[in-house]
Amino acid sequence: MLHIPIDRDHSSPVYKQIYAWIKNEILQGTLAAETKLPSKRTLAALLNVSQNSILSAYNQLIAEGYLYTKERSGYFVKTIHPIRPLNVEKKLDPKLSETRAKSYRYSFSHMGVGASLFPFQSWHQSEQKAIRDDQELLSEINHPQGIYKLREIVSNKIRHTRGVICEPEQIVIGASTQWLLQLFLLVVAENKPFAMEEPGYHRLTSLLQTMRHAVYHVPVDAHGMNVEKLRETPANIAIVTPSHQMPTGSIMPVSRRTELLHWCYEKEGRYVIEDDYDSEFKYEGDIVPSLQSLDVDEKVIYIDSYSKSLLPDLRMSYMVLPLGLIDVFKEKGLHFMQTTSVLTQLTLARFLENGEYDKHIKRMSKYYKEVRAKLITALQKRFGSFVRVEGEKAGLHFLLHLDTEEPIEAIMERAEKMELELYSIQRFLHEQSGSAPTTLIIGFAKLKPEEIDEAVEMLYRCCFPE
Ligand SMILES: *Cc1c(COP(=O)(O)O)cnc(C)c1O
Repeated sequence: MLHIPIDRDHSSPVYKQIYAWIKNEILQGTLAAETKLPSKRTLAALLNVSQNSILSAYNQLIAEGYLYTKERSGYFVKTIHPIRPLNVEKKLDPKLSETRAKSYRYSFSHMGVGASLFPFQSWHQSEQKAIRDDQELLSEINHPQGIYKLREIVSNKIRHTRGVICEPEQIVIGASTQWLLQLFLLVVAENKPFAMEEPGYHRLTSLLQTMRHAVYHVPVDAHGMNVEKLRETPANIAIVTPSHQMPTGSIMPVSRRTELLHWCYEKEGRYVIEDDYDSEFKYEGDIVPSLQSLDVDEKVIYIDSYSKSLLPDLRMSYMVLPLGLIDVFKEKGLHFMQTTSVLTQLTLARFLENGEYDKHIKRMSKYYKEVRAKLITALQKRFGSFVRVEGEKAGLHFLLHLDTEEPIEAIMERAEKMELELYSIQRFLHEQSGSAPTTLIIGFAKLKPEEIDEAVEMLYRCCFPE
């Protein structure tokens, strides 16, 4: 007989308790297959509950496949393979538990932007307009390459700002540079050997390696990727950051750009991927046109992101495919659904159209330029001849070479203790050699002008402890 313990004070309804008890018995095999269960009336009387409770429990068990009924003869247990032991406690390895995001007093992170200066109000207005005018688009599945209108606006924009000549059909919008590269790998570049800058953007390296592409680490000199060294590798596709090398900050001169393009043109199947991540910000001289603008042979895949120019949280980047790759993309790439929301795309389209984007870039360039100048002055004042700044002419970070006996690990450890967010060149190096250079990546986008003196003082104490 089924002596099911019923707890009448329990928050769970009576029928659910009966259901759970029987289900558990069946799963553990204690109620064997083909066992006949008591009738509703018998069980209701035995447990002193209503027949309705029994009926609800039996019905749910039938719906889930634990029981079946035979006409005029009652309820039976179905044949299933018992699973045991049930109810083992599943526990997360404490090593894997996520601690809450650490909050820092000051941040030298190269990854963020000055979010407090983002024009949330005008962004919001653009969003409101998008909701009002294009509501029907919100109820549809987004084109895999992104909203056509946005692609049109972007293609006009980058013609002027980056010298990138392309049709909207060549543009693919996606939720991040990493995702766009992944799409490219899936669709166009199966099993191709890649060349990455050394030091270089580690997130793309790890993606390539996870997807089992051979990766050759080609050293970067003051002009960017060394093309002679590139030639010594079997790589077919080189990923470079010509506007502001990540992390050294060097700007690739035209001589190196054409050299790289020549490497590309020499052999069928070679391409260059241009990661133009923070090209909007240039502090000395004019903005340098893209590498793509020099490409006469449709061999450059241009990728840019709104993570640095607007906000990382928009999750909005785009890639421009060469004309020769569009048909293969249309054939294989359109199976992958768009990863950025339509509303974000429509909002950005308006934000670009109504001039708010340009206003924002202008304001931020001015702001970053000031913060950067103030920071460099403060660093030079505090550290004197013990530091050298490199790669500061563009973008949102520069390198700081330190002349100190302190090992870099000790500096990083002290920074962590002092709640100073700090990154070293190590995370961009493929070869983790024994004696790492004492070089820091100093991002200044999240640093407020009034924080600079104190943050620099803290940094000094990390590098030169008493
Ligand atoms: C920030 C950054 C990007 C942009 O990355 P998203 O994935 O688009 O946010 C791309 N490349 C480099 C080197 C960067 O630093």
